[in-house]
Parts: sequence; structure tokens; C-alpha cells
Amino acid sequence: MTELVLAGARQPGAAGPVNLHLRYGAVAGISSGGDLPAGVEVVDLDGRYVIPGLWDEHVHMTQWALHTNRLDLSGAATAGAAAAVVRSHASAADPSITTVGVGFRDALWPDVPTLEMLDAVTGNQPTVLISHDLHCVWLNSAAARRYSVEPDVSGLLREEPAFALTRELGKLPDSVVDAWVLESARDAAARGVVGVVDFEMTWNREPWLRRIADGFDALRVDAGVYPEDLERAVSLGMRTGQEVDGGSGLLRTGPLKVLIDGSLNTRTAYCVDPYPHGGHGLLTVSEEELLGLLGRAGAAGFVPAVHAIGDAANQVALDAFERAGIGGRIEHAQFIRIQDLPRFGQLGVTASVQPVHALDDRDAAESNWPGRTDRAFPLRSLLHAGATLALGSDAPVAPLDPWAAISSATTRARPDGRGPWHPAEAMTRQQALTASARGRAGIRVGDPADLTVLDADPLTVPDAALAIMPVAATLLAGRFTFDGGLA
Ligand SMILES: [Zn+2]
Repeated sequence: MTELVLAGARQPGAAGPVNLHLRYGAVAGISSGGDLPAGVEVVDLDGRYVIPGLWDEHVHMTQWALHTNRLDLSGAATAGAAAAVVRSHASAADPSITTVGVGFRDALWPDVPTLEMLDAVTGNQPTVLISHDLHCVWLNSAAARRYSVEPDVSGLLREEPAFALTRELGKLPDSVVDAWVLESARDAAARGVVGVVDFEMTWNREPWLRRIADGFDALRVDAGVYPEDLERAVSLGMRTGQEVDGGSGLLRTGPLKVLIDGSLNTRTAYCVDPYPHGGHGLLTVSEEELLGLLGRAGAAGFVPAVHAIGDAANQVALDAFERAGIGGRIEHAQFIRIQDLPRFGQLGVTASVQPVHALDDRDAAESNWPGRTDRAFPLRSLLHAGATLALGSDAPVAPLDPWAAISSATTRARPDGRGPWHPAEAMTRQQALTASARGRAGIRVGDPADLTVLDADPLTVPDAALAIMPVAATLLAGRFTFDGGLA
């Protein structure tokens, strides 16, 4: 489809519907009135809302695809309830692929898991369930045969045997993983997503080239590179923003991802003040090493994306950007010293943030950064200090759904009645939409025809509706990647 008109399209906050003329993958014109060119396909949006296509700026795509194909057992209050979840999925199971469940908490169960109980609901379908803390697996007899392990009557393995079996579960044929990635990408397109920055921790070029050669066309992908692969990437002529696959135009080289600290929940985020239990967390790369990497990245045309969560880590990252004389991104930017807020904008460092984590980690932040959480996830303060924000999920840590991020960023609350957390740090809806669309605040002639069509006005729907925004269609370069019955 080289040419298409979206008629009756409304832009949030703008007067009256317009016609969007899409040609060769771009927005070629915007007109009002009824005179449409003859011989061109027209899709009537009937007054629906159109916004620039949404991006998720931080995902781990393979991990997300694996995650969505595992049964969630976190809600099972008994071994029997976990078995019931497994039973309800048994009919759809493919015996060549082991069924995997995750998140059970057997320490809280009043009943005792047994091999017999799991066999009764799974039959010959190999099934392995992994505990919430990953230190225990519960498997059935078919899985015991497949992986040559010998559990006792409990069907449980703990510690090293559990870890070893879990590692085996990750070894799936490419064809299986690729099919799951495609399914996850289509689900993302159905939520209005046109592109992702994939930080899968591996050499990611060949898997994506293979998927695209096999017909993957649901999303644009900027595939990140890790320092251990930087010289390999440079020798292949790769640089951030450059197309890897000229044929489809979907795959580009992403940023160079550099991790310099840990995480809040493991108390390894590197912080200025000590944690209540002691220690400042971990700086996993020295300042000189980081400076060297940024210099090398800059010279080779790579945009650095530095993972920094604690306030001391963010300070180290900003110092390194300043000394290297280049801009880039900081991934997470969860905890920032007040005096560092303006440095993001001054240095040209984008804050790539995951607003859902602010609510997931609210209690962990209060206990580990007591009295200081007014500068935790400081979204509005960053914006007001001149920073560019880019929203993402860090899927599978949070679901790959931009509306969850937009909702968290703008309300700082969940519909759980708890009340908002530091509501002064909420972004406006327009700010959150712009930060989810690579800085595009509206649709302009010359833009790529990457568009998201909504059934409601994202600037005025109630908060509860924003979190589950109904998406009518998604277009990538003028082609429907999701079409909820419109076209
Ligand atoms: Zn990540």
C-alpha cells in the first residue's frame, strides 16, 4: 500500500477532523473538507483520535516473549490451586514444548506439592514450575524423563538441581522463540506500539535479521549492543541509528548499553547515602573505564545508554558524559541529586525512564531511601529542569504496554485506593504521550506514517480508562500492523 487516506481523523486537543494523506510511508498531507483524491484507498476513522505512533524505549524482547508464554502462578494460594492453573492450560499445550509456570510461593502453602498431584493434571505433557525466588522447581514425571532428573515423591528439586533445570528450559529452538517474539510484537502493536529499543543481553543482530527474513513486520526495532560486542559491531560498520536491514527498513542499530550499578530491590543501586542496612550499593564499572567506553562509543558513532539507578551512579554517569563531551541516554534514572537534574538537559542526556517501576518499587524506595523519595523517579522535575524524557517498560520487569507507563507517569497512582505517590512528580498527559513517541507532540507533514488510532481522546478520558486505552488501529510506515476491524 503506497498511498492511503485516513479520513475523519481527530488529533487530541485540535479542532475538527482532518484527512491524513499517507504516501510512501510518510505523512504527505493534511487536509480538511470532503474532496478526496480519486483512485486512492480511503479508510474512514469516523472521528477517532490519531496520535504519533508509540515506542517502548527499553525492552528485553526475547525475555518478554518467554515470560508471556509461561503460566503465572503468583496468585496460587495452595499447591492444589497451582495445579488447577496448570490443568486449565493443559488442553492447549504442545507436547514438544515443555510447559513452564513461574512465581509460586510454596512456603505459604498449607498443602504439600507432590509428583502425583502434578501428574494427575498434566498427563504426558512435560511440565516444570519455578518458584518465585527461583530456588525451587516442581516438575512432573514427563519432565523428569525429558530432562533425566529423578525427583522424589514431592516432585521438587531445590538449589543447584533447580538452577540447572531452569537453565535447560531456556534452550528452545529458534523457531519457537521467534514465533513467540512475533506474537508478543503483534500484541504490542495492538496496544499502539510502532517500535521498541531492544536491550536483550546478547548479540542481537542475527536473531533479528533472521526474524525479519522470516516475515517479522510488526514493529520497528532498534537493537542495542553491549560493550563486549562493541568492536565486533564497529568492524561490521554498525553505528547507532543506522539501518541494519535495508530491505524492510525495520531494523536499526540501537544504543551501546553500559551497566554501571545494580538495582533498588537488591540494594545494589549505587547511592550517595548509605542504605539503612549499610553499604552504598555497587559501582560495577570504574569512572575511568566508563569514560573510556563513552569515548570509544562516541568515536565509533554509538550513542551510549548508561544503566544508572542510584543517585551516585547517575552522578558518575553525568560526570562521564560531561568529560567525554558527548550526549546519550541514562537508562532508569530512578534516583537523582537535585543539583544533577539540570545536567541532563545541559549535556544532552535523555532520561529513559520506566514509570510503572515508580509504583512497583514505591515501598522499596521508602524503606531504602528514607526521607529522600521526593527525588525518586522525579519525572516532572527532570522535565522542568530541561531534560528530554523517553518512556519505556523494561519488559519483562513491567508489561510491554505504553498505556501502563503513560498512566503511571501521569497519575503516580494505581486504582488500588492507596493514593498517589509524590504526585508533584506527575507528568501531564501530553508530556507523557510526547515522551512515548520519540518527541513527536502531534502529526506533521513529512513525519513517518507511524500512527496510533484511538477510540477515545487520550487527553480527556478518565484516569482508569487511560490505563486500558482502547486502541483501534496501528500503522507503521502507512501500513496497518494492527487493525481492529477498521480497514
Ligand atoms: Zn532492562
